[in-house]
Amino acid sequence: MKRVSKWIAGLSIFATAGTAPAQQTDVACQATNARLNLNRDLKPGTDFVPILPDDSLGFHVSYSVKSDNSFTVGIFILPLENNEVLIFGAGYAENSMQGKEAEAAVVDATLRDCMGYGPGMSTIHLVAPHGHQDHINPSFVQEMVDLGHSFAEIVYHKGDAVWIDQMDWTPDQRSLFNEIDGSICGSNLIQFASPLGKIWFTPRSGHTEGSLDLILDIENDATNRLLIRGSVAGGQCPPVPGLQLSLDAHGTVFLPPEDGSFRARAEVVNGAGINRLCLITDSAPRVGGSWNTMIDAQGHAGAYGLVLIGYTAVLSPGLQIPYGEFLLDTRGGTFLMCLSQPASTPTFILNVPADPNYLGFEAWFQGLILGGTTELCNGLHVQIGA
Ligand SMILES: [Zn+2]
Repeated sequence: MKRVSKWIAGLSIFATAGTAPAQQTDVACQATNARLNLNRDLKPGTDFVPILPDDSLGFHVSYSVKSDNSFTVGIFILPLENNEVLIFGAGYAENSMQGKEAEAAVVDATLRDCMGYGPGMSTIHLVAPHGHQDHINPSFVQEMVDLGHSFAEIVYHKGDAVWIDQMDWTPDQRSLFNEIDGSICGSNLIQFASPLGKIWFTPRSGHTEGSLDLILDIENDATNRLLIRGSVAGGQCPPVPGLQLSLDAHGTVFLPPEDGSFRARAEVVNGAGINRLCLITDSAPRVGGSWNTMIDAQGHAGAYGLVLIGYTAVLSPGLQIPYGEFLLDTRGGTFLMCLSQPASTPTFILNVPADPNYLGFEAWFQGLILGGTTELCNGLHVQIGA
C-alpha cells in the first residue's frame, strides 16, 4: 500500500488551533491532566480529572494495569468533607502489572502529593463499582492500611454480595462491610458530601446485578452531573437526568472539548450532486492515528491513476468542468496531493502526527480518476479530532 508519510505544507498556520490546558502547579504530584489525553488508549499512572472549565476543581484516577497489559481499571479518588476520601474501585491488586504494593503506593502518593492529605491521615470510604475482583478485593484494603490509612467502610450492593463474600477478607475487614440494597433506577442508595458537590450512588444492573454508578452533582447542581459507570454501558436503567459527562470504570479518561469542536469528522460533500460517490472512507482522522480513504475506480474503463487532493477551503458552489464538479477552493492552498494506481493501491493512508496542535484542523478532499474519461469523485470534509 502506498503510505503518505506526512501531512505537508500549510499545517503550521494551524499551530495555534489547540489550547494548552492549565497545568497543575503542585510539583510533587505525579498526576497528568486528563484533558491532555487524546484518546482512550490504555495508559498507566494517575490523571487529574477537572470538573470545572478552569481546572480549579476535580478528582484523581489511578490506572491499574492488568498483569497481561490488556485492560486498565480506574481507582477513582475523590475528596470528601472532614478530611475523608472516597475511593471508587480497588484495582487489580495482585493481578496487576505493577503489583499490589506498588499500586497502593501510587494511590497513597496521590492522596499525599496531589490532594494534600497527610501521611496516613485519610479515612477511606471504599465503594465497589461491582463485585468483580478488579473493583473490590481485600489486598487493596490491606495495602492501604499498611501504608497508614484507615477505612470507614466498604460499601457494596447486595446483588454482588455472593462474589464479595467469597473473597479472603479478614474479620476486621468484614466488620467494615456496608451492604446496600435497592434496584429502582435513578434512586439514591447512599450519598456523600464532597467539596466537589454531592456524590451519590444509584443502581444500574446489567454487567452484574449489583453494579453501582457514581453520580457527582458538580457544585451541587443537579443539571450538571458527572457519571462514573460502575460497569459497562447499557443495562436496563435510562440515564440519570442532567448528565454532562460519562466516564467508564475501565480505560483512560477522555474529556471531549466543551464545544465538541474537536471531534473527528469525515462527511461527504458533493455540491450539486453530479459526481459519483467514489471517494470513500469509513473513519475520521484522529491525532496520532492513520486515516484511510479509498477511490473506487471499478466500472471506470481505462483508469490508470487515482489522485487524492486536499485543500484547506471548499468551493461552494463548485466549479462545473467537463470531468464533473470541482469542489475545492484552490485559493486555500493545496496541502496534499497524492497519486496511486487503481489496480494495486486504491487506498490512501494519511498519518496524523500525535500532536494536539492538529486538533480541530479542517480540510476538504476530493478524488480524481485519470484515464479513460477523467472523472471527479465526491468530496470529503474532514476535521482532525481526538
Ligand atoms: Zn466486572
